[in-house]
Amino acid sequence: MKASVLFEHGGPEKLTLSEVDEPTVLEGETLIRVGAAGVEPGLDIKTRQDGGGWPIDLPHILGASMAGTVMRSVGEGALAEGTRVAVAPVISCGVCRFCRTGRDNSCQSRRFMGINRPGGYAEYCAVPSRNLIPIADSTSFAVAAGASVSYSTAWHSVVSRARVSPADTVFVVGSSGSVGIAAAQAAALFGARVILGGRDRRKVAPLAAEVGAAGIVDTAGDIPAQLAQLAPEGVDLVVDTVGPATWASSVAVLNPEGRLVCVGGSSGGEVGLTLRDVYRKNVSLFFSTSSPFEQLKLVYRLIDEGKLAPKVYAEYPLADAAAAHAAMVEQKHVGKVVIVPEGA
Ligand SMILES: [Zn+2]
Repeated sequence: MKASVLFEHGGPEKLTLSEVDEPTVLEGETLIRVGAAGVEPGLDIKTRQDGGGWPIDLPHILGASMAGTVMRSVGEGALAEGTRVAVAPVISCGVCRFCRTGRDNSCQSRRFMGINRPGGYAEYCAVPSRNLIPIADSTSFAVAAGASVSYSTAWHSVVSRARVSPADTVFVVGSSGSVGIAAAQAAALFGARVILGGRDRRKVAPLAAEVGAAGIVDTAGDIPAQLAQLAPEGVDLVVDTVGPATWASSVAVLNPEGRLVCVGGSSGGEVGLTLRDVYRKNVSLFFSTSSPFEQLKLVYRLIDEGKLAPKVYAEYPLADAAAAHAAMVEQKHVGKVVIVPEGA
C-alpha cells in the first residue's frame, strides 16, 4: 500500500510517499481503509519536526486522527465490513483505575494512534477495534478525521474541566484554529456568551456569525481594553489555545472566581505566572488533554446531528502530505487541513 513515511525528523519535505507492506491485523484490531487523516499541530507536526518528546521509532507513519471504512477485523469488538467509522486517537489500557472509572484519557499507560503505532497517513491502518466510532453517512471522512483530536480536546476542556454554563461569558483565544472553533461551538451549545479572539478578523468573522458571538477581539492589539468594551461585566472563562503570547492577558481579564483552561499553546510551551494575580481573585487554572472515549462518542453524535460543525479548510492527496504540513505551518487556514488517500 501507499503511505507517507517519515524516515527522519525535519521539515515537511521529510514526508515521503512510499510503498510499504499492508499492516498486520492482530487480535482485537480492525483494518480500516483510510478515508481522511487530519494534520494535528500538537501531535503530527511536532512529531515530524523533532519527535515532540514522544518515543518514536523511525521510519514512522504519522496520523493521530483519521476516519475511514472497516475492511476486516480479528476477534472481539468487530464491526461489519463497510461500516463508516472515526477512530479515537487515544489508546488506553482498559484496566487501570482511570480507565475503569471512565477517565481513559488519563490512562496510566496511554498511547496515541500515529505516535506509538502507525497512523493514518496511509491507504490502510490497523487500529484497536474498541477505538472505532460509527459515523453517519452525512458526516464526511474529512470532517470526522478533522474532529477526533480537536473536538475531543475542546469538549473535555470546556465542558468537563471548566464546566461551562449559560451564566458564563467565554473568551476563546485562538479561535481560527480547530480547537478554538470547537471550543466556541461547545460554549455556544451550552448557552454561554461567546467572544472570539484572533489575529485576523476576516478569518474569525464567519465563526462569530455562526455561534452568535458578542464580538471579536484582535489579539494583536490591546486585549483587556477591547474586552472592557465588549464585555463590561468581565470574562468568566478563558479558553487559551495560544499560550505564551496571550497568557498574561488571559489571566488578567478573568473575573473573580474565573477559570482559564489551557490545552497547550501554539505560540510556545512556557508561561509565567504572578501568584497574587490568581489567588487574590480565587481563579482556577485548568489543563486538559484529549477526552474520554464516551465523550468522543457524544461529540460524533452531535456532529452527526449538525450541532457541532467542524471546519475543513483544505484537503490534500496523500502524495502531497508535505504540502499539507507546510500549509498548516503557514497558518493561513481556518480549521482543519486533512490528507486524503487517492480513491478514498
Ligand atoms: Zn488505563
